[in-house]
Amino acid sequence: MPTTRFTVTGTTMLTPTMVRVHLSTDDLSGFADSRFADRYVKLVFPKPGVELPEQLDVRSLRGTMPPEDLPVVRTYTALNPDVEAGTMDIDFVVHGDEGVAGPWAARAQAGDTLIANGPGGAYTPDPTADWHLLVGDESAVPAISAALQAMHPDATAQVVILVDSADHEPKLTLPAGGSVTFVHRAKGGSLESVVRGLEWLDGRVHAFVHGEAEETMKGLRPYLRTERGLGREQLSISGYWRRGTSEDGFREWKAKLASEEGEETPSRRGRPGS
Ligand SMILES: Cc1cc2nc3c(=O)[nH]c(=O)nc-3n(C[C@H](O)[C@H](O)[C@H](O)COP(=O)(O)OP(=O)(O)OC[C@H]3O[C@@H](n4cnc5c(N)ncnc54)[C@H](O)[C@@H]3O)c2cc1C
Repeated sequence: MPTTRFTVTGTTMLTPTMVRVHLSTDDLSGFADSRFADRYVKLVFPKPGVELPEQLDVRSLRGTMPPEDLPVVRTYTALNPDVEAGTMDIDFVVHGDEGVAGPWAARAQAGDTLIANGPGGAYTPDPTADWHLLVGDESAVPAISAALQAMHPDATAQVVILVDSADHEPKLTLPAGGSVTFVHRAKGGSLESVVRGLEWLDGRVHAFVHGEAEETMKGLRPYLRTERGLGREQLSISGYWRRGTSEDGFREWKAKLASEEGEETPSRRGRPGS
């Protein structure tokens, strides 16, 4: 997991609650071999006055410094990395004053700095699948957009996105066989009910389903794994965040859920949120 130090070159508001932060660096070589559509980085926010090593691995920092000096670490999808130009984007959900990364992005300005550890990743749309199902809330829109870009231009894809209301809908570029359904929280919509109501197409599906943890893991996963019978290799599913807890609390919840279910913990399987 190489460490890359970025400078913010500007920001673009994509929707009322999604800001794209444009980043630049002298050396993006750590991204040269990364091919995953859900390519992600661990953003490292140092505590004031605490120096971090030039190269750091956020997975092994614990025990190397006093707990109060440990940086805050948040996971984000890395978009449009251009190794030659040394540029990359990250789209942040601006979800209020709570937390670290969202509020940082809301205030970000040209000249600010950002440390990223990574990239990692796990999912690329399977070109041999008959159709693709892409489901998520705003936090998964960056990865869903990257997945749509990675597909064959004639691919068939059903996309379901949860946003606050019509004026929060992101712009997506769909393949020829693509369709998108936006679900609005303001109208009480839920991803699970819309996905249950979708026309289930013939053939083998490859699915990417990420968003709020309870909604994905306790709502959509049983439907897709048990009722629709999707095997592990057909389904990338996990929470990207959990309502009411920071990413640190969410990591603990995930580890507990995995151990209750008798699965390997997410970190052992190299899952993104670990
Ligand atoms: C692999 C992966 C890729 C991800 N990619 C992206 C991405 O590209 N863009 C993106 O915006 N997020 C992404 N996320 C989600 C992001 O990591 C979390 O939303 C994270 O908790 C934000 O950190 P924070 O410091 O802003 O808030 P935290 O300190 O973690 O949380 C503070 C409070 O805000 C709430 N909160 C956190 N996220 C949201 C949200 N999205 N909507 C509403 N409330 C929220 C929490 O429940 C908590 O109450 C990704 C997560 C994973 C695992």
